[in-house]
Amino acid sequence: MAATSSEPKFSFKLVVHKEKNKVIYAEVNNHFVDTLFSIMTLPMATIVRLLRKRSSEKLKAIGSLNNVYDSLVNLSKNCLSSEENKWIMLNPRSSSYEVCKKLQINIDDTTPMKYFICQDMGCSRRSGARYSTCNLAKCYCGLQMDREVKYEELDDNARDDCDGGVFVSDVTKFIVTDDLRVMPNTLGCSFQLLRDQGITEVNDLGNRTMDMGHDQILDLLQGAVLFKYPLSYMVFPENMVNTTKVTSDFKHVTSNEADTGSKKLTLKVTLQKSTSKLLYAEADSDFVEFVFGFLEIPLGTLIGNLMNCSSPFESLNNLYSSVSNSSIDEYLKSSNAKNMVVKPELEQKYISVNQLFPISVITASKCYCHSYLKDGAYNASVARYPNREGHKDEMFCTLSLKDPRVDGRYLKTSAKFMLTDDLVITSVASTSPFDILCNLKVPLTDVEEHTVNITIEDALNILDASLKSSLALTDSIVKKITETKK
Ligand SMILES: [Zn+2]
Repeated sequence: MAATSSEPKFSFKLVVHKEKNKVIYAEVNNHFVDTLFSIMTLPMATIVRLLRKRSSEKLKAIGSLNNVYDSLVNLSKNCLSSEENKWIMLNPRSSSYEVCKKLQINIDDTTPMKYFICQDMGCSRRSGARYSTCNLAKCYCGLQMDREVKYEELDDNARDDCDGGVFVSDVTKFIVTDDLRVMPNTLGCSFQLLRDQGITEVNDLGNRTMDMGHDQILDLLQGAVLFKYPLSYMVFPENMVNTTKVTSDFKHVTSNEADTGSKKLTLKVTLQKSTSKLLYAEADSDFVEFVFGFLEIPLGTLIGNLMNCSSPFESLNNLYSSVSNSSIDEYLKSSNAKNMVVKPELEQKYISVNQLFPISVITASKCYCHSYLKDGAYNASVARYPNREGHKDEMFCTLSLKDPRVDGRYLKTSAKFMLTDDLVITSVASTSPFDILCNLKVPLTDVEEHTVNITIEDALNILDASLKSSLALTDSIVKKITETKK
C-alpha cells in the first residue's frame, strides 16, 4: 500500500472470525458506502477499464467482455458510420458522473465531458447547429467539430444538498458484510448477522483495522467480480485461492420490458459436426453492434433491470439489493439518490437501434450556445439551461447534440465480422477465410453451419455468458443449438 499521505483513505474496523480467517463484517462510514454504491452507476466499459488496471491474469473475471472492449479499441475506423463513434461507444457515462465527483474516493476514470462545435463560428450560430462531445466529429457543413467550448452550469438546482454525502445519509453508520450487504450499524443488525453465521461466542471474534484508498477499492471491485466474499479475499487472500467462484444459475430475467420488437439479429455459427465444438461465428454489423452495446450498460441496470439480481456477480447482486430493498427514510438521501443507483441513466447518448435491452438515457438535451466577442474574436461557451438574459455584445443560439448514428447505427451496415468463442471480434476485411479454414484443421466434411435468429432470451444468455465465461458463444448459442438437436 504505497499510498501517499495526501491520498484520501477510508479507515475502518473489521470484525473477523479468528479461527476461520474470515471477515464477518466491516463497520464503515457513509462515505465508504457512497463509493460502494457509485459502482452501480458505472457502465460496463468503465468497469472493464478499471479492472484492467489491476491484475491482468485475473481478467478472466469478466469472461469475454474484456475481449469485446479490446475488439472495439482495435476496430478499424472503416467500419464506423461516423468517425467519432468508437470513442462514443468506449466512453459511455451515467448521468451521476458529475455527482460522483463529490465522492471522497471516486474510481470512475472516464475523462470529463467536453463540448465541441464547428470550426466555423458562423456555422454554429445558424439554426439547427450541433455540438459534439468528441472532437473527431464532422459538422454537417463538412468541417471538423474541434472547437472546444466551455460548459457553464446555469442550473442552480443541480447543486442540491450534497454536503452530507452523495447517496446515503451522513448521520448513519453502516455495516458492510463480507458478501457486500449494506445495513445501518445497529446492535440489532450485528446480533442478527452473528446469529445467521452460527456464531454464539464473542470470544471467537477479533478486530482488525483496515485502510482502503483508491487502489484498494479497485481490488475490492475485482474481488467482488471474482468471489462471493470480497472482503475476505482482501484480508485473507491465501484462504481464497482454492475457492472456486460460485456462479448462480442464471434465472429468468425481467425481460418483459426487453423486447426485440421487429428487430431481427442473426448469427451464423460454424460447428465441428462430430464434437459440436464451435469453430467460428460470422455476423453482420447489427449483431456486432448489439454486442458492443454491452459496454454501455450501467452495472445497476445489468444487475437489476436485466438480470433480476441473479447476475454472475453475487456480492454485487447483494450490494444492489441493499439499495433497492431499502426505503428512502431508512438511510438513503432521497428517491433521486436511490434511482441513480438502482435505475442508472446514460448521459448524452443516442442509443443504437441494435441495443435490444431497455437502457435509460437522459434525452440528449438542447445545449445553449453563448458566444461573445472578446479581444476581437468570438468565444463561446455552452450551457444546458437557458435561463438568463443576454448582454448586448453576446450572441445566443441553441445547439443540439449531434446524432452520430447513420440510420440509427454506429457501425456501417455493410461491415461483416468474424467472432471467436470468447468474443474477439474482427472485421472480415482484415481476415482471410482461407487461412481460417486451414487453421481449423478439421475435415471439411465434419463442418456444419447454423444460422441462429437471436431472441431476447438468447441476447440475455450471451450477455450473461460474456460476464463469466471464456466460451461465451458455446455457453449460450451453441448450447441452444445442441439442445434443440436432442
Ligand atoms: Zn459547420
